[in-house]
Amino acid sequence: MGRIVMKFGGTSMAGTERIRRVAGIVKRQQEAGHEVAVVVSAMSGETDRLVTFCREANPLYDPAEYDVVVASGEQVTSGLLALHLQALGCKARSWLGWQLPIRTDEAHAKARIEEIDSAALLASMAAGEIAVIPGFQGLTADNRVTTLGRGGSDTSAVAVAAAVKADRCDIYTDVDGVYTTDPRIVAKARKLKSVTYEEMLELASVGSKVLQTRSVSLAMKENVRVQVLSSFIDESAPPADSLPGTMIVSDEELEGLDMERQLITGIAADKNEAKVILTRVPDRPGAVATIFSPLAEANINVDMIIQNVGREHTDTDVTFTVPASDLDRTKALLDAQQATIGFEKMTTDAKVAKISVVGVGMRSHAGVASTMFKALADRGINIQAISTSEIKVSVLIDADEVELAVRVLHTAYELDGA
Ligand code: ADP
Ligand code: ASP
Ligand code: MG
Repeated sequence: MGRIVMKFGGTSMAGTERIRRVAGIVKRQQEAGHEVAVVVSAMSGETDRLVTFCREANPLYDPAEYDVVVASGEQVTSGLLALHLQALGCKARSWLGWQLPIRTDEAHAKARIEEIDSAALLASMAAGEIAVIPGFQGLTADNRVTTLGRGGSDTSAVAVAAAVKADRCDIYTDVDGVYTTDPRIVAKARKLKSVTYEEMLELASVGSKVLQTRSVSLAMKENVRVQVLSSFIDESAPPADSLPGTMIVSDEELEGLDMERQLITGIAADKNEAKVILTRVPDRPGAVATIFSPLAEANINVDMIIQNVGREHTDTDVTFTVPASDLDRTKALLDAQQATIGFEKMTTDAKVAKISVVGVGMRSHAGVASTMFKALADRGINIQAISTSEIKVSVLIDADEVELAVRVLHTAYELDGA
């Protein structure tokens, strides 16, 4: 007997039939003797629909009002799931973000959870009631509704699990675990039994959308046991305890679990990057700072950076990437600073993608990067930028070549399944 937080994503909550199925899965966990809290997403497509309404109302919308609009999708599904659970004879009720409350900072549209008051939840669960909580939403100190950024229900679930000290946080989605790469792109992708927090953090941050990045860092910090698994399973299957999902584990746990691990754990692609090239930037101390300080002040995240060796030591080209959604703002900021920075020309390209290979095995093995470069070269795929971390190598390539590149690398690192 334990305490479990279950999270269901948008595809799992899309419509009456699917929510009824979810209610069945939740009910079985309770029947297995667990105290259960459930975190739900809006129906798939709903958040996109609501975002569009905001943009249509005003392209420069007020993020606080945007939050009021987009948080509504999860209110609908949490009430519906409570109704379905009641229809199955379970005691259940919804707890909206403001009712608990789930306190966040003031950063509308990308708020961070600061605290969850778990007293009411714990009392309700102890009384045998299933607590249904809308993901994605929270409340500022001055009682305005916030949302946690796209994919944020994963983070809500982990935060609730930490707050109620759950034994496990099960993230139910439309695939049955974390794969070596997106199984919708590469049919030969293999499901992983386990991934370390650190690897999952890298994979999420370089584009594997199966878990929101913040949910993984929170799980790592709070020591929450997270499992990723599918809600599209046989109704009569046994409770989730014996379901073959993917466990997110610590380095130490991994050693005992998965002896036959490959050097590379996974490959991720991110098409939401854009490349900026500034030519003939003066080659002197402080020049690069004049480029990146205004971007940092505008909260624009610069990812890959390359500075070429200067021609005759007088000037140099600087190439970097920013999120594609920030490209227009980046261009405007740099144009305004052209005289101060002193560059000659700015060119940009949004038709790029970043491919990353991730694995803790890299720490102890050389040659991971060269395998990547050779495999891509053999297929004539040109590399435009490179960046590395202790457990990751990323390259920037033409967006049209993403799918080919992921497949080629999947094979090169011997990740292909049957
Ligand atoms: P949910 O609505 O349940 O939150 P998401 O769409 O956010 O689901 O995340 C699940 C999707 O993540 C899968 O359908 C899959 O296409 C994608 N995905 C990307 N990379 C991976 C990976 N390495 N393993 C599993 N799924 C992945
Ligand atoms: N509904 C939100 C989104 O689509 C949050 C989530 O599903 O995780 O981003
Ligand atoms: Mg998601």
